[in-house]
Amino acid sequence: MTHDAKKISVLGLGAMGAAFARAWLAAGYEVTVWNRTGSRAEALAGEGAQVAATAAEAVGAGGLVVVCLLDDASVGEVLADVELLGKGLVNVTTSTPGQARERAEWAAARGARYLDGGIMAVPPMIGSPESGAYVFYSGSPELFAAHRDVLGVPAGTRYVGEDVGSAALHDVALLSAMTGMFAGVSHAFALMRGAEVAPREFAGLLVEWLTAMAPYANGGAAQLETGDYALGVTSNLAMMVEGNGTLLRTAEEQGVSPELLRPFMVLMERRLAAGHGEEGTTGVVDLLRRRVG
Ligand code: NDP
Repeated sequence: MTHDAKKISVLGLGAMGAAFARAWLAAGYEVTVWNRTGSRAEALAGEGAQVAATAAEAVGAGGLVVVCLLDDASVGEVLADVELLGKGLVNVTTSTPGQARERAEWAAARGARYLDGGIMAVPPMIGSPESGAYVFYSGSPELFAAHRDVLGVPAGTRYVGEDVGSAALHDVALLSAMTGMFAGVSHAFALMRGAEVAPREFAGLLVEWLTAMAPYANGGAAQLETGDYALGVTSNLAMMVEGNGTLLRTAEEQGVSPELLRPFMVLMERRLAAGHGEEGTTGVVDLLRRRVG
């Protein structure tokens, strides 16, 4: 290992950036840190990090440069006047696929190799291999191959291709699914508010049920791959749309707004009205797509 391979600079010491920096410090890396609000960097100095006075100084310290800021705009702001020629830049700031592609072009124009990352974890999971934390990476295959071990210290790594937007797309797709899940969880808690069962007890039922249902995503994938949306259907759309009425009436009875449930139901009804009552819900995927392909 060259000396630089044990060096890493982390820009951005929010909850996530600080967790990344700590994981590398714990693994014996020479870590240089920078943060807009200096006090956050000082906290890491006590744990062995070198504190850079400016972002440019941190980037100039040698080794891989990891950026973990709030959003793409803050990345542009922080690196605007920083010399990046010859640098390996890994940006784990959450962004859209389009922003990732633009940022990669921006980095290439400055002579840097670029990897984009999408973090599938919350900060307490970072640095604990058993937590299941991982990061999607996409972009320069050479940069990923050269730093795979370093990047694997804070969390697992999943390289998802040379198209630099791919990591963000995977990340946002999973986050979007999670958002829908928590929308459902919120509605369920609202229904159960005031019921005899305690929220914690009900949460146990929720987790058990959602865990049992989640694998049905595999059936949807098989339908999308074969184009046969009725393949292996166990709960058909005609029945489910009928069932929606019960869900809506129950919300009404319990004094709960149906505003989270309703949009998905409207799509199910449209697909049923188009004559697809024998399918499950996979046809909704096509209704959502604004562009074909
Ligand atoms: P925090 O809000 O804790 O930290 C934000 C960081 O961005 C701070 O270092 C802040 O600096 C810096 N920052 C914000 N705006 C600017 C700016 N204009 N110029 C310079 N620095 C700026 O966020 P997290 O650390 O939690 O998140 C960082 C990234 O990680 C985000 O993209 C987030 O989506 C992603 N992520 C976070 C997860 C989480 O659960 N926390 C999970 C998965 C991904 P300062 O201290 O000066 O305010």
